Amino acid sequence: MNHDRSHALFERARTLLPGGVNSPVRAFKSVGGEPFFVDRADGPWLYDVDGNRYIDYVGSWGPMIAGHNHPRVREAVQEAIGQGLSFGAPCAAEVTMAETITRLVPSCEMVRMVNSGTEATLSAIRLARGATGRMKIVKFEGCYHGHGDSFLVKAGSGALTLGVPTSPGVPKALADLTITLPYNDFDAASALFDEVGGEIAGLIIEPVVGNANCLPPREGYLQHLRALCTRHGALLIFDEVMTGFRVALGGAQARYGVIPDLTTFGKIIGGGMPVGAYGGRRALMERIAPAGPIYQAGTLSGNPVAMAAGLAMLDLVSAPGFHDRLEAATHALCDGLEAAAQDAGVAFTTTRVGAMFGLFFTDAPQVDTYAQAVACDTAAFNRFFHAMLARGVYLAPSAFEAGFMSGAHDGAVIDATLAAAREAFVAVAA
Ligand code: PLP
Repeated sequence: MNHDRSHALFERARTLLPGGVNSPVRAFKSVGGEPFFVDRADGPWLYDVDGNRYIDYVGSWGPMIAGHNHPRVREAVQEAIGQGLSFGAPCAAEVTMAETITRLVPSCEMVRMVNSGTEATLSAIRLARGATGRMKIVKFEGCYHGHGDSFLVKAGSGALTLGVPTSPGVPKALADLTITLPYNDFDAASALFDEVGGEIAGLIIEPVVGNANCLPPREGYLQHLRALCTRHGALLIFDEVMTGFRVALGGAQARYGVIPDLTTFGKIIGGGMPVGAYGGRRALMERIAPAGPIYQAGTLSGNPVAMAAGLAMLDLVSAPGFHDRLEAATHALCDGLEAAAQDAGVAFTTTRVGAMFGLFFTDAPQVDTYAQAVACDTAAFNRFFHAMLARGVYLAPSAFEAGFMSGAHDGAVIDATLAAAREAFVAVAA
């Protein structure tokens, strides 16, 4: 593959943008090499500026669940653009969006639209703190909730270790309010709540972790967290920015039958435009300004073009059988990858939840903890990533990101992926 144009663009970008990109993982730092620059996208395909074509399992990091450049989404955006780009005053599409989200995710009786997943999670913890009068937040190792200061904190060595800033620039005073737990560890969560449960405003979790590869919750784990939060008066916040409308139409809360107090959304609800949202019970959401005193606002929030894109996307994912088809495609892909790895003698396993999947280079039969995910052979993943890329398949450029299936990945696309994978695993084994 020729990458001359991408290379030239990256050289220019590096002098102008930190690391040459506007979001870190895009720079290929963890897999090595240089990113390709995208010219256009269609269905399951990305086309780069040098004319190379890739089967895409990143899907713009989640929003493109119906495939890239879907005509229904594109037409909805084109129609909205004809009416003006932003009003800064209420519009009908915001009401339709709120009606749609509250219908699909009944734990949300009211919602507030924002412009990114980061804004949604930041706003949700402000609401949790404002509503409970408590200040501590609990999160999980390996979970990502955007780049808000309170979330850029990871645990030290023990489960109950108090915050250590991960990123320079996070004030220690704020980091001290974030407690990090190991995901899928029942006892660690119980012990923490026994100790400081009365000080916890909210516990935020990716119900299926998609930012430490893909880690499904153990049976009963989300229920356990629900019970602890209820018992200690803390709010349970499901960050469904990734899982929302993906692991089931009603998100992870529908799939696992656990009702959170607050939910955050992003990605799919914007249909590819910059959108986030948070929602919950009416009594909680009415604490938000101007109904209540907890302040949160946005110049472009509820933007009419973004609402049109998101509504078209939500309509597509609401089609009967949509998620069943994606789940079947995910299984076909993951089963095929495991078989190809076995044939090549490569230690490898997968996880799958709905239209999300994880790829693990390990001889462990099952991976569902952060410690297991980080113990996998990342060098083997990196070799596999590049071997697949050279064969026209684009996986997330990091061993710690989930893969995403879309409605445009049909049998032929999955067969082509598996043909590439059979060669790529042989290359990894060599
Ligand atoms: N929460 C989760 C679970 C995410 O995966 C992400 C982004 O990947 C975010 C929040 C932040 O969303 P955004 O990048 O739109 O700010």
